[in-house]
Amino acid sequence: MTFDSIIGHKRQINILQRSLKNQRIAHAYLFEGPDGVGKRLVAVALARALFCQTGDGCGDCPSCHKVDHNNHPDLHLLDAEGTSIKIDQVRGLQQDLALRPLEGKYKVCLIDGAEQLNPAAANALLKTLEEPQPNTVIILLTSQPEKLLPTIRSRCQRLPFHRLPKQRLAEILANRLELDETEALILAALSEGSFQKALGKNKGLYLERRGDLLHSLLSLSAGSIIPLFSLAEELAAEKEQLDDILEIYQVFFRDLLLLKHGRPEEDMVNLDLKETLYRQLAVETTTSLLKKLQALETGRYHLQRNVNRQLAMEFMLMRMTAA
Ligand SMILES: [Zn+2]
Repeated sequence: MTFDSIIGHKRQINILQRSLKNQRIAHAYLFEGPDGVGKRLVAVALARALFCQTGDGCGDCPSCHKVDHNNHPDLHLLDAEGTSIKIDQVRGLQQDLALRPLEGKYKVCLIDGAEQLNPAAANALLKTLEEPQPNTVIILLTSQPEKLLPTIRSRCQRLPFHRLPKQRLAEILANRLELDETEALILAALSEGSFQKALGKNKGLYLERRGDLLHSLLSLSAGSIIPLFSLAEELAAEKEQLDDILEIYQVFFRDLLLLKHGRPEEDMVNLDLKETLYRQLAVETTTSLLKKLQALETGRYHLQRNVNRQLAMEFMLMRMTAA
């Protein structure tokens, strides 16, 4: 991965390239921004440029090859074991950083999901950040910088990353996945600028299953208790994708709310479901839409709190059909 092959993040890459050129690389960076937008790609590209024998991450020298194959001896990767990054992992890192680089001038450590550092690990890491070794670069990646110790944040050069604009992501997706313009726009809008979401397993969910999922929901009525229970059961059985499904529902009702208030059709996400949108629009009021959105929000909240999934979905659907 070179800087040039990364899509977007030009400002961030410029800053890093300028520091490389002026040999003013910071001891520690904090790359902060939403998951899946490419923070890790930029971090690996930086590591590659630091190790590269020609100095720019050429892609052809043995050092670049080692980074690409994930076996460069001076690149240390750290991420959560289980649910947290533990103190033993940070101690291992410290021992490693105390040694001289094996091949090049630098040692680089990448800590992905830095918000998962547990308190002991965070305090240990803070010591390393306070007494930086020469020629070591630590890059912390996080989508939740507020969860890091303020003292860790202040020791790092912070570099914020942003989602790609919807239109730009849609163009890239249309090219890469051979989608038509409408499909690409839907995928870009639902994945909220996250490449990982758009290219991963959610592509099928967003483009193929979305229509059916909405149909099952919209065919429920206040009196139809049996279909309601069976949809709740189906939803509860969805493993990792349930939250994304509820988000699809939210986006649909948000589209309706915007239409109700006279926003143009181009602003809708569900551009391919206009007929369904207008049919539903005729039976909704602003109040009923707001109540449905509220029920969905509560449903997602309950799921995060690990309540009984089936009960949470039944409660949510009842509130929605009553709205
Ligand atoms: Zn190289």
